Amino acid sequence: MKLLENKTALITGASRGIGEAIALKFAEQGAHIAFTYLSSEERAKTLEEKLKQFGVQAKGYKSDAGDYASTEALAAEVLKDFGAIGICVNNAGISRDNLLLRITPEQWDDVMQANLKSVYNLTKQVIKPMMKARSGSIINLSSVVGVKGNSGQSAYAASKAGIIGFTKSIAQELGSRNIRVNAIAPGFVETDMTHYLNDGEGGGKWFEKIPMQRFGKPEEIANVALFLASEMSSYVTGQVISTCGGMN
Ligand code: NAP
Repeated sequence: MKLLENKTALITGASRGIGEAIALKFAEQGAHIAFTYLSSEERAKTLEEKLKQFGVQAKGYKSDAGDYASTEALAAEVLKDFGAIGICVNNAGISRDNLLLRITPEQWDDVMQANLKSVYNLTKQVIKPMMKARSGSIINLSSVVGVKGNSGQSAYAASKAGIIGFTKSIAQELGSRNIRVNAIAPGFVETDMTHYLNDGEGGGKWFEKIPMQRFGKPEEIANVALFLASEMSSYVTGQVISTCGGMN
């Protein structure tokens, strides 16, 4: 028996990186996959085909996670296409790193909208069908930076810390409805987002900050997401799972 047989998962920002790895992992475990992207049309099409090879239903939707009206329309469309949303992964995110002295109000707003408001936007939509079904798992991608802070990442860190407060609050609101809400706080993971940290040695100088002396792989975050999505974590809610090679 696969861990997510007959479940439907909605994953934001799955055209690349961690979201893509989560989509593939969930499909391998039998989940039908609705996923979003913003600009990577071609990668989304390729992913859709890959997911279908697991024998599950799969569809990519172009949808801006930071825009409330778009997420409202998205959830309605996914419910029409799939009939249910049992798992929601708020993964879409961006970084606009800059020292506070230099960060512009526009950069600050962009990060807050894409990383934090996005989580409010979609969570508000998916809890309605989940409450009806009296079952659901919501997984929010925070970051080790949201727990510890990081010089040059004040906006990103604030958005990711905000996700933790949101996750813990919503978990308390929804526990009695059997809807679990958890966050994952990854450390450095090998994706486009951390590509700029690569100094030719795969991020060598950063390794001194990481007890395990390497970046994580998207699949290693996907494994934690699978645990949180499945009944393996049926008594886990309101938690932040650090997945950071010991950084936190
Ligand atoms: P990534 O490789 O840069 O991919 C980002 C994904 O999000 C892409 O699929 C992108 O779509 C999508 N996206 C961005 N803004 C969007 C929006 N407004 N609406 C819908 N989709 C949007 O990032 P990643 O490294 O996989 O990170 C995934 C999540 O993990 C993020 O929340 C990130 O903050 C968090 N995280 C990452 C790391 C890390 O080291 N990589 C560490 C801690 C936390 P397009 O391809 O269409 O642009």
